[in-house]
Amino acid sequence: MRVVIVGAGFGGIAAAIELRRHGFDDVTLLEAAPELGGTWHYNDYPGAACDVPSHFYSYSYAQRRDWSRLCSPQSEILGYLRGVAAEYGIEERIVTGATVTACRWDDATARWAVRTEDGTERHAEALVLATGQLNQPAMPGIEGLADFAGHSFHSARWDHDYDLRGKRVAVIGTGASAVQFVPEIAEQAGQLAVFQRSGNWFLPRRNRAYPALLKVLFARVPSVQRVRRAFLFRYMEAITAAIRNPATVGRVGRLRAALFMRWQLRDPEVRRKAWPDYMFGCKRVLFSSAYLPALQRDNVELVTEAIERMAPEGPVTADGRRHDVDCVIYGTGFRTNDFMFPMEVTGTGGGSLRDAWAGGAHAHLGITVPGFPSMFILYGPNTNTSGGSIIYYLEAQAGYLRQALDRVRADGAAAIDVRPEVEETSDRAVQAHFAGTAWTQCDSWYRNGEGRIIANWPGYMAEYGERTRTLDPAEYRLIPRPARRGEAARPAPAEHTA
Ligand code: NAP
Repeated sequence: MRVVIVGAGFGGIAAAIELRRHGFDDVTLLEAAPELGGTWHYNDYPGAACDVPSHFYSYSYAQRRDWSRLCSPQSEILGYLRGVAAEYGIEERIVTGATVTACRWDDATARWAVRTEDGTERHAEALVLATGQLNQPAMPGIEGLADFAGHSFHSARWDHDYDLRGKRVAVIGTGASAVQFVPEIAEQAGQLAVFQRSGNWFLPRRNRAYPALLKVLFARVPSVQRVRRAFLFRYMEAITAAIRNPATVGRVGRLRAALFMRWQLRDPEVRRKAWPDYMFGCKRVLFSSAYLPALQRDNVELVTEAIERMAPEGPVTADGRRHDVDCVIYGTGFRTNDFMFPMEVTGTGGGSLRDAWAGGAHAHLGITVPGFPSMFILYGPNTNTSGGSIIYYLEAQAGYLRQALDRVRADGAAAIDVRPEVEETSDRAVQAHFAGTAWTQCDSWYRNGEGRIIANWPGYMAEYGERTRTLDPAEYRLIPRPARRGEAARPAPAEHTA
């Protein structure tokens, strides 16, 4: 069975490892970037690091005992991923610089045709879309954006050749990325104006290098590592508990954040401006002990008036003030609702995924979509986490899709397709599970234009692990192999059930 995986980030590599470990050897990863890494290749802004502790932001089967600190910097994470890819023989299966433009299912041959920008077409019996949710930088819809005469770039495409020292810099956006790079560039810029549309809830993260003794313990006593992973799992589930139960656990989380923020925000004016006006946990809770102090530096101004338009000199805010700057850095996040689009994906009968998702993306367990046989999405709809490690989800998804392909192989079928009623029911259950949670209490990148939450899993990591551990054959139908010329059509597997 040939499998094409689109994307060689944490997801694509998890799928490739899982498949190869179970005897699926013909695996090709197509990666648009010049190297593997996905989000960790592109997001190399100053201060880029994970905010999930590395002992848990790593594959369960590829544990490292030499992490330098609690939350590793980008270069260490990318180094880890390169190491794992080499160790599991995945590196040589990655085709870099290969931007996929279209994936077409052919009913006649029961295969996928995957086309790249250079016109090459590859065929495969199974397709894994591992492009993730945080892959396409989003630019703000500010009037006159192109009129700005100075230098500008997005945080996910950092211009390392541009020297910020002494410059007047504007940062637009105050999400998880900006919160990491603002403290770094505040030390270089002459003047820094941070444009905030919404405040954030903060919890502390010092992220000092591990003391030598702890490093020795991690390295020499394997149980320390195991206990730490188990502790981190529970700690992160507690964050989800706060989001799921805003009136109880959420209040404890809010109090912890408020005390920390009150202690950090000594300047009453900055405190007033930076304080969030929505429920704790509705947007991503940010972990930083450096950001709020950076806002109170003499060369930093927090601007909360809305940006009305961009003038050639810089942003003009609703109070009529023009903020003249040399450089604008967009920390405005990603086009999360787009998933793998603008890639064209067509399934059985030429049905397009864009049409299937017209009201917002949805997939069974975030992985399978009816009418798109043997197509599997990693980090798909409703599988983002606000309180866990995405690596946990990716491993679960890789295991699930491998089980699906095991079924296809064992039966000698062509492909496997989720039953429409199963997907519909599970989607309804996912949406219903959001009721009463903090996620429903404000606008965020987790929702689409109609307000439907399409990014996040509504429950705990443990629930997702449980739901994906064993593929239920009754939820799928197998597609028989088409007859070759001169051969009688293969009988359909019993009741078409996987
Ligand atoms: P983000 O969380 O979506 O933040 C974007 C920021 O830009 C928000 O403050 C948003 O304001 C603002 N914004 C967007 N459009 C705007 C406009 N037209 N005018 C003014 N402000 C605008 O993006 P991100 O910071 O890149 O983070 C995205 C996700 O990546 C995170 O939630 C997280 O999951 C992940 N991430 C993880 C880490 C990590 O350490 N693991 C680090 C970075 C990112 P509003 O809040 O008002 O929309």
